[in-house]
Amino acid sequence: MVFKNNEPYCLFCDNKDCVHIGFVFSLPDVYKILSIKGIKSPK
Ligand SMILES: [Zn+2]
Repeated sequence: MVFKNNEPYCLFCDNKDCVHIGFVFSLPDVYKILSIKGIKSPK
């Protein structure tokens, strides 16, 4: 997973709203870091 324009983007699925990204945002530590960076979940 990478970030494009501060939005998560999955290279596996060529999609920015897939199960992989949902999984990443379900991790509390990751979610906290992304929130600090101002990156919001696509959901
Ligand atoms: Zn994916």
